[in-house]
Amino acid sequence: MGKKITIIGAGISGLATAYWLHKDGYDVTVLEAGNQPGGAMQTVKEDDYIIDFGPNSGLETTPLISLLAEEVGLKNEMIYASSISNKRYILKNNHLHALPMSAGGMIKTKLFTTKGKLRVLKEPFVGKSEDGYYQSIADFVTRRLGHEFLDYAIDPFVSGVFAGNPHKLSVKSAFPKLYRLEELYGGLVKGMIKGAKERKRSKEESKQSAKMFSFVNGMQSFPTAIAANLKDVRYNYNVREIIKENNSYKIISDNNEDIISDIVLSTVPAYTLAGITTNLDMELGKHLTDVYYPPVMVLYVGIEKSKILQPLDGFGYLIPTKEKKNFLGAIWSSVIFPNRSNDTHAAFTIFVGGAKSPEIFNGDEDQLVNEVIKSFSSIMKVNGEPEIVRKRLWHKAIPQYNIGYIEHEKYFEQFEKNNPGFFISGNFRGGISVGDCVKNSDLVANRIKVLIDN
Ligand SMILES: Cc1cc2nc3c(=O)[nH]c(=O)nc-3n(C[C@H](O)[C@H](O)[C@H](O)COP(=O)(O)OP(=O)(O)OC[C@H]3O[C@@H](n4cnc5c(N)ncnc54)[C@H](O)[C@@H]3O)c2cc1C
Repeated sequence: MGKKITIIGAGISGLATAYWLHKDGYDVTVLEAGNQPGGAMQTVKEDDYIIDFGPNSGLETTPLISLLAEEVGLKNEMIYASSISNKRYILKNNHLHALPMSAGGMIKTKLFTTKGKLRVLKEPFVGKSEDGYYQSIADFVTRRLGHEFLDYAIDPFVSGVFAGNPHKLSVKSAFPKLYRLEELYGGLVKGMIKGAKERKRSKEESKQSAKMFSFVNGMQSFPTAIAANLKDVRYNYNVREIIKENNSYKIISDNNEDIISDIVLSTVPAYTLAGITTNLDMELGKHLTDVYYPPVMVLYVGIEKSKILQPLDGFGYLIPTKEKKNFLGAIWSSVIFPNRSNDTHAAFTIFVGGAKSPEIFNGDEDQLVNEVIKSFSSIMKVNGEPEIVRKRLWHKAIPQYNIGYIEHEKYFEQFEKNNPGFFISGNFRGGISVGDCVKNSDLVANRIKVLIDN
């Protein structure tokens, strides 16, 4: 349609946006520093194991996921989590407790004391709070549900989603839908009842009710299939600098092949974007580098089933900070998606580090791996050694929407206004989950179309 669009980054955010634009006839080029599509979505096949080092699944919170999978020819490979994996465990006193999913379960569970349970019942009578952008998820939950619920439900949940610190994450920036329940309806219970009706009208699924999906050959199949449906994706193309030239942008890369583009969409991590926009705006870099990405190690472990005494009947478990273990939790990968290992072995994904314990990586890495596997094996009652152990250390894993993030978001909006044709997207804006990245890809593609068409 006359205007050239360049998207930087071939993760799910960049590729999905490129797809919507390409489908409608726009001229799109994607530039990727690495040699393959996917970014954080990385899958490796080894013997009978399918190893996801990034996201192991996504939640189908928007119909766009299924639509995109269908259009790139991957619908037949889309798989859903086994029903057994609805059960989730939390570790308390070296024992795995099923997370209660009903009122009856809440009464019976030993995860919370009677006092803690009675405190949760007060939630509908707790009043509204002031500006949630400056309130941590920890303060929000303690006020509404009490500190036990924070320690044994929300703290591990925050580790599972953000590998984050609940005392630092802003409730409104990191969990906007949760905060909205209080803001709009006056409380979580009231909001969940009334909000369900609203979602039904909008066809969106809440994260609690959305189906968990992946693909037969792992999560990376998705970006790979999207990239295969695009006309111009260039790999090993590390963008170094972006300069404004009249009404367009000059994109300078390591391989000295500059590109002039009318529209630029960045989907690279915040800290990378800071380095390539110094010529456009000095202030932007301060905001971008302030977005914290903690380190997370992913350990993939395959163990013979006969050596595991813990019944494998759930999604896996998360570990509250109070339990003082050397890892955040473990997903029972082959229980969720049985083809992740063969019939005789089980596959697990263990998460280590995160915003609460980045210093854990200061010492010897091999020793850390051995110690984590030892604690994991003790909790799972494993007799013997794993068949395989594979690791991936993400030095900067997941952007944290901490208190103060709103100031960065406001500046990103201001920067886009000051630099027409330059769009900023990626998982440090509008949500970190794969589902949120796909939702945002549609929103930003529409904003680009509006700019070009008017
Ligand atoms: C360990 C881990 C586990 C996760 N688990 C889940 C999960 O189970 N479920 C879920 O929904 N989400 C999960 N997430 C989050 C989710 O995977 C990510 O938020 C999402 O995939 C990010 O996509 P993106 O395209 O925004 O960014 P990225 O995937 O980071 O893509 C950015 C791309 O930009 C490229 N790039 C960087 N610099 C340059 C440059 N200078 N020039 C050109 N290209 C460049 C990078 O190589 C990369 O390919 C997880 C993330 C991690 C790290």
